[in-house]
Amino acid sequence: MKNYDVIVIGGGHAGYEAALAASRMGVETLLLSMSKDTIAQMSCNPAIGGVGKGHLVKEIDALGGEMGMAADETGIQFRVLNSSKGPATRGSRCQSEMYEYKIRIRQVLEAQSCLTLAEGLADDLLFEGQRVIGVRTAAGAEYLGAAIIMTTGTFLNGLIHRGTERVEAGRINEPPAKKITHSMHSLGLKMGRLKTGTPARLDKRTIDWDQTAEQWGDDPIQKFSFRDSVVRLPQVPCYVTYTNEDTHRVIQDNLQQSALYSGAIKGIGPRYCPSIEDKIVKFADKNRHQIFLEPTGLESLEIYPNGLSTSMPADVQLKFLRTIPGLHNVEIIRAGYAIEYDFVDPTQLLPTLELKDVENLFLAGQINGTTGYEEAAAQGLMAGINAALKAQKKPPFILKRNEAYIGVLIDDLITKGTSEPYRMFTSRAEYRLHLREDNADQRLSEKGWRLGLLPEEYYLRVQEKQKHIHSLLNTFETSRITPRSEINDELIAFGETPLKTTASLADLLRRPGFTLQSLKTLNFMETMIPWDDFAPEVLSQVEITIKYDGYLNRQQQELKQFDELEKIRIPLELNYGSISGLSREVIEKLKHFRPANLGQASRISGITPAAVNVLRIFLKNHPSVQAKAS
Ligand code: FAD
Repeated sequence: MKNYDVIVIGGGHAGYEAALAASRMGVETLLLSMSKDTIAQMSCNPAIGGVGKGHLVKEIDALGGEMGMAADETGIQFRVLNSSKGPATRGSRCQSEMYEYKIRIRQVLEAQSCLTLAEGLADDLLFEGQRVIGVRTAAGAEYLGAAIIMTTGTFLNGLIHRGTERVEAGRINEPPAKKITHSMHSLGLKMGRLKTGTPARLDKRTIDWDQTAEQWGDDPIQKFSFRDSVVRLPQVPCYVTYTNEDTHRVIQDNLQQSALYSGAIKGIGPRYCPSIEDKIVKFADKNRHQIFLEPTGLESLEIYPNGLSTSMPADVQLKFLRTIPGLHNVEIIRAGYAIEYDFVDPTQLLPTLELKDVENLFLAGQINGTTGYEEAAAQGLMAGINAALKAQKKPPFILKRNEAYIGVLIDDLITKGTSEPYRMFTSRAEYRLHLREDNADQRLSEKGWRLGLLPEEYYLRVQEKQKHIHSLLNTFETSRITPRSEINDELIAFGETPLKTTASLADLLRRPGFTLQSLKTLNFMETMIPWDDFAPEVLSQVEITIKYDGYLNRQQQELKQFDELEKIRIPLELNYGSISGLSREVIEKLKHFRPANLGQASRISGITPAAVNVLRIFLKNHPSVQAKAS
């Protein structure tokens, strides 16, 4: 029987980030997964990032995680989505060489000290009372660990549906994890059932590309990582095509054969990533849907038709695919399918992702009701960090909603739970102007470095960048321009109103008619700032800070108020029934959720501002109760 500090079960996107975080923090870690060959597999779309998801990748990177570096090194098309919109909603995305991605992650894992990789199907958790102490595999191997992180994705009681066909599986051609599901159920955890789906993979050689529109990525490329990753693979295009009325007719005519519509699937699917049959029923007035034909790799023959996830029988899939321009002669390499699986109600988790009632058992990824590689990786990183800290008997590491999208993700899960696969959007963050992709390094690199995850050179680099930003901001605020005729003539020629009184450079930049780039072109600006001394990312931070300073300052005030409530901690075992002034309903809710602080309590649905006030007064008058929570 081998002994570890941290054992991670599952080598998906949550699993590898968890294993890397724990081992990089210096604790002996085991990554136990069904097969080493499927570590970091992209089960569905061959892409990393997107709106909201790109934020998560950049935050993982700033904290010292791996996803951003791996995405850069194996990306074959990079685009910033929403680039014409404000900085808060921009989202970086890359098309991935998904085979190279797996290889790269595996190489990083194999080179990592304090980390052992093992193959095996985890069947049972080992307990001492309500405390988990290890895991037993189907082959009978036992491993002991001070903390266990379950990252089993869609494998718990996984059931694949395609038409009327049902196969017990964790993913296509992979067995489900049945015994460990029983182990989880026997803990008395509240669990539910969700579903997700994937489209058919198409044979590249059978597509008529001339009938589709080519789409290239951005030039120049903006990478995910602020570290020294290199985009080294050739860049390739994706192709765009559309469904049409014929496609919709085939799907309508065969709706009863869809596992989703025949009632065979009970689990709830991702609202924001619906199957094609769902789109056709729910948006019946739309006469076409956009489809992206995405390469899965540079040498791969498989094309991923993004937007065509389905649970129709294979012959119906082929029939509707062949109605789409470019796909009239297409052949399927692997048919699409839907999968149902069990997940654990995440309201049973602490902010560290440890279960409230099962000591030392952490959960991360799809098992907590999320969907997406990025959401999984973010949770994996946080669970890995907290499991390592627990093994080292150090205080936990928690990111708040006002610090990171990762904080929003975890707080949403543990405070609100989820009844459908949860994915990240920028609209989920109330402080999104403050939590931008472009400042993830400034927000989080110090924390990553202090945890021992981010190498010091990168942290110092961010410090240096901050210095440059502050110095340039200072120059903009303190450099005054007087309304001289040569300046006003230039402003008028530019279509701007002339100055009547002295103004700062920042005042000029605040004008809607100016961008930093356009301001730079004015002759009088040339000598005012040594432009070449500042890197493009410094200039862009200065521009955003000045342009949005009104909103940012207002948000800063809100952040302070938010922080006050978060600081008032609540012990898990607080007897809410003994607090007078709380209604029975509120007491029941608080007993169920057991919030970690007053801020979290205030976000539980049904907890009124009056109830928060009662709690606040109670905690203030009973400092000894609060002390128990620290
Ligand atoms: P996974 O990546 O699934 O990894 C789980 C790991 O655990 C695997 O390595 C597995 O081998 C291992 N494992 C499981 N049980 C055991 C055990 N008992 N013992 C040892 N190892 C075990 N996401 C989207 O964002 N959009 C989509 O459209 C989308 N569609 C999807 C369609 C399908 C069919 C599937 C399967 C997934 C889809 N996803 C989609 C989800 C995405 O793949 C996951 O959200 C993401 O991979 C979850 O990461 P994870 O680490 O939690 O789990």
